[in-house]
Amino acid sequence: MSQQGYVATPPYSQAQPGMGGYPAGFGSTPAQPLYRHYGGPPQSFPAPPTGMMKPVSSPSGMPPPQVPSHYGSNGQQNGAHPQSYPAPPYGQPPQSPYHSMAHQGPPPAQQLTNQMGAMNLGYGPGPMQSPQVPPTSPPTQQPFQTAPPPAMGHSPLGPPPTGPHSSQMAPPQSPLAGPPMAGPQSMGGPPPMGGMGRPFPGPPPPGAGGFQQPGPGAAGPPGHPQQLQGQFGGQMAGPGMAGPGMAGPGMAGPFQGGAAQMAGPPQKKLDPDSIPSTTQVIEDDQAKRGGQVYTTNLRGQVPPLVTTDYTVQDQGNASPRFMRCTTYSFPCTADLAKQCQVPLATIIKPFATVPKNETPMYVVNHGETGPIRCNRCKAYMCPYMQFMDGGRRYQCGFCNCVNEVPPFYFQHLDHMGKRVDFYERPELSLGSYEFAATLDYCKNNKPASPPAYIFMIDVSYANIKSGLVRLVCDELKTLLDNLPREDGAESSMVKVGFVTYNKILHFYNVKSALAQPQMMVVSDTAEMFVPLLDGFLVNFQESRAVINNLLDQIPDMFADTNESETVFAPVIQAGVEALKAAECSGKLFIFHSSIPTAEAPGKLKNRDDKKLINTEKEKTLFQPQKAVYEQLSKDCVSQGCSVDLFLFPSQYVDIATMGDVATHTGGSIFKYSNFQVERDGQHFLSDLRKDVEKAIGFDAIMRVRTSTGFRATDFFGAIHMNNTTDVEMAAVDCDKAVTVEFKHDDTLSEETGALMQCALLYTTISGQRRLRIHNLSLNCSAQLSELYKSCETDALINFFTKSAYRAMLNQPLKTVRENLVNQAAHMLACYRKNCASPSAASQLILPDAMKVFPVYLNSLLKTGPLVGSAELSTDDRAHQRLSTTAMGVEDTQLLLYPRLIPLHNMDVASDVVPTPVRCSEERLTDAGMFLLENGCSLFLWLGQACPPELIQSIFNVPSLAHVPVDLRSLPELDNPQSKKLRSIVDSLLDQRPSSMKLLIVKQKDRSEIMFRQHLVEDKGLHGGASYMDFLCYVHREIRQVLT
Ligand SMILES: [Zn+2]
Repeated sequence: MSQQGYVATPPYSQAQPGMGGYPAGFGSTPAQPLYRHYGGPPQSFPAPPTGMMKPVSSPSGMPPPQVPSHYGSNGQQNGAHPQSYPAPPYGQPPQSPYHSMAHQGPPPAQQLTNQMGAMNLGYGPGPMQSPQVPPTSPPTQQPFQTAPPPAMGHSPLGPPPTGPHSSQMAPPQSPLAGPPMAGPQSMGGPPPMGGMGRPFPGPPPPGAGGFQQPGPGAAGPPGHPQQLQGQFGGQMAGPGMAGPGMAGPGMAGPFQGGAAQMAGPPQKKLDPDSIPSTTQVIEDDQAKRGGQVYTTNLRGQVPPLVTTDYTVQDQGNASPRFMRCTTYSFPCTADLAKQCQVPLATIIKPFATVPKNETPMYVVNHGETGPIRCNRCKAYMCPYMQFMDGGRRYQCGFCNCVNEVPPFYFQHLDHMGKRVDFYERPELSLGSYEFAATLDYCKNNKPASPPAYIFMIDVSYANIKSGLVRLVCDELKTLLDNLPREDGAESSMVKVGFVTYNKILHFYNVKSALAQPQMMVVSDTAEMFVPLLDGFLVNFQESRAVINNLLDQIPDMFADTNESETVFAPVIQAGVEALKAAECSGKLFIFHSSIPTAEAPGKLKNRDDKKLINTEKEKTLFQPQKAVYEQLSKDCVSQGCSVDLFLFPSQYVDIATMGDVATHTGGSIFKYSNFQVERDGQHFLSDLRKDVEKAIGFDAIMRVRTSTGFRATDFFGAIHMNNTTDVEMAAVDCDKAVTVEFKHDDTLSEETGALMQCALLYTTISGQRRLRIHNLSLNCSAQLSELYKSCETDALINFFTKSAYRAMLNQPLKTVRENLVNQAAHMLACYRKNCASPSAASQLILPDAMKVFPVYLNSLLKTGPLVGSAELSTDDRAHQRLSTTAMGVEDTQLLLYPRLIPLHNMDVASDVVPTPVRCSEERLTDAGMFLLENGCSLFLWLGQACPPELIQSIFNVPSLAHVPVDLRSLPELDNPQSKKLRSIVDSLLDQRPSSMKLLIVKQKDRSEIMFRQHLVEDKGLHGGASYMDFLCYVHREIRQVLT
């Protein structure tokens, strides 16, 4: 290595032949035609028509029109139909299929009441006034929904009297309830944090069920009524259905069971099986919609759950992989929206991974004119444009402006008013597609370049000593062969560069012509500049020898370092400057160990102060130190420079500040506390591999356009916004999502619905400028019942998580928590008031599509960021807060309701993952073995009485006591149990955006506490209510809203 030492200003003291232009090897010169791989230069598109481009990976072209009949007969294109649904299953008593039921048996909604009343029995000192709990009610599937007609209140099987009994709704002596509840005035208890409630006494006696899980058919998603009837109708309701866990499968069939048939032992305790179960909801959806093709041809169609395994066929609306909504039926007016308080939001994951069996993204090239857009609102050509006047004009579905069709794009209409080339053009028939962008869409009207990845390694004492530096360098030698590339391309066009640093920065010239890499040192970190351009960012294939040489040398070069201080902001600054000089976008991979205390811009000090917890000032712990970092974020975004941060701290590093740039530039933050190569090396390397290899777009700007009457008002994600409409993202990868909230500014029409178009302009990994378009059409209704029926809990909780985590920067946590519960109570109370049939106030009635919302909300309230406990590390809390910023619906769902998978009785012959059970201690068994994962953590829990044979086959040791708890991966043993378990773990790891470190936990060991905090139905370890207590609490809040 030849070291050129300190390079003084001016920055580019070396003559750089390539400066300002593109050095040889950077591909085509700007003068050449740009998008020739995608259909050739513009002139090759004689008008009409310009070609629709085939997806790069699929030579087969567009699929033939599959279900043309779905496209209506009135000339409207798909997605724009008003559609009729079967009569809603609830909310309209006279037509309701449940109506007749009310005369046959006790009202299903009462069951929870009974439970709630019965719940007190477990508490009372001595024999409580055991209300004559009626025999278990019939197994209806709509316990939360269907309210009885007024007369039912007098039925012997009716709900317990309100009044005195109603106060029993909450567990007595619960701190949240304050003094014994005597009426509404005592209802405003504090939020259920900090040890609310008491644990419920042991599991219920077998058979004490009664309160049935609402079945899958309860409010079947619109658009699938036939399946519902066909599959589930008539299956339900027999006397035998009342046992715990025996969820009734559906509601659609005629109700057969009668109350008399349902006699069972009187309930003494509330059966945990009786409250709505997330695992049941997931199972039911999988049973009903799993393995099916989800065709996106209907407006306002509610997709399968994120947890369900389905295949998407795009027929005019974006796949739910790209866009998911909190509800698929917007209320028509702002008043209704305000009344129900259900957030109207869409979670957009523009680069979501699409399974191989689904159609890849088509690229459309409209030639030199660029994509066709509405003259007024600039929306892009899409299925919501209505052609008219013999095909000469089209009306924009977003702003109603009538536009001329450009001559080259003209096409005749068929007798239905549809263009005859409808199925040949993705932009007319699909919900998602891409346009090749013209120079108008490029910075300074210059073509974009392929992005660059810069690896920036902290070589201070801590990282050298831990072995991290050597690990990273060794890994990069092979990892760089897997840089992302265009489908079908031989090699990646992504360039790479290398920097090492502690208090000063070292840049490396790795030009292929060199025999040895050259180091250039910059010690003036106050005015960061890049000392070389030519040779800093190179093609890995061409410079492989020099790069490998460098990676071999780096660990040795710093092996004897004593330097423990680091800089941080100047490192990011250096990366941005390098990309700026190379005129490209890119990503910085920073491997950093400690809080940057060296004298330099962005220097930080330890401001971790546990005394602030649960005070007004707690929020300051999460507020980033501004100034330098804020400006850095802006610089990064304007250059399309994303920052991925790999942190290896041994103590507080102020993640709130250090992670700030990453979370505004589409980056990720990975954290490995007290990193040890042997213990954590594989975990880290898995993360690094996924991160380097993943699909990604750079220098992106996103705009969400809407039809008239509503608009996007708020955005949550790893984004930056300079104005109120343009979402800037230095990069956006396949795991990053932006949550967009909408507000009314006028009345929406039931006829035209609510249309949205997300347009994302970005640079591909090969340097193409593209527009990715996702379109989605929702219904609008003046009936709130439609909104509640079309809600999606998983999307709702994504929105609530992001908005709460943002609010905690400005409000005391207590306020944030209270607001969450208040809004939830309003949502549910509004349903109760407007959509459910009249019923006693003591009944908790939840909309079917939201019935597990409370368990998610309660889990959110118990997450580290919101819980306010001095036992939690401030950095961990900040990390979790920032990590959720860009999460999609899948990620927040799993984070807030982990999968708890029983392993002790798995079927080794099947390759199916065992069905998860509810996240509660009660589901654990001493003789059991369970896997728990939430996307961040992975635990293998071993019961004290776990059979030695099972232990032997998994761990190859004779008993539980011999199992080493520091095991980080399972031994590879040649037996069915071992193979099965390892394949389950591998499949889980494969599905998640980041790697998870496997932790072995033995029952009653100290480490079990880490595992237990993920049992989200139980009382929180650091405060927070059990699911059951929380449900009571929410119920009280609802009642308060209603009074
Ligand atoms: Zn328009």
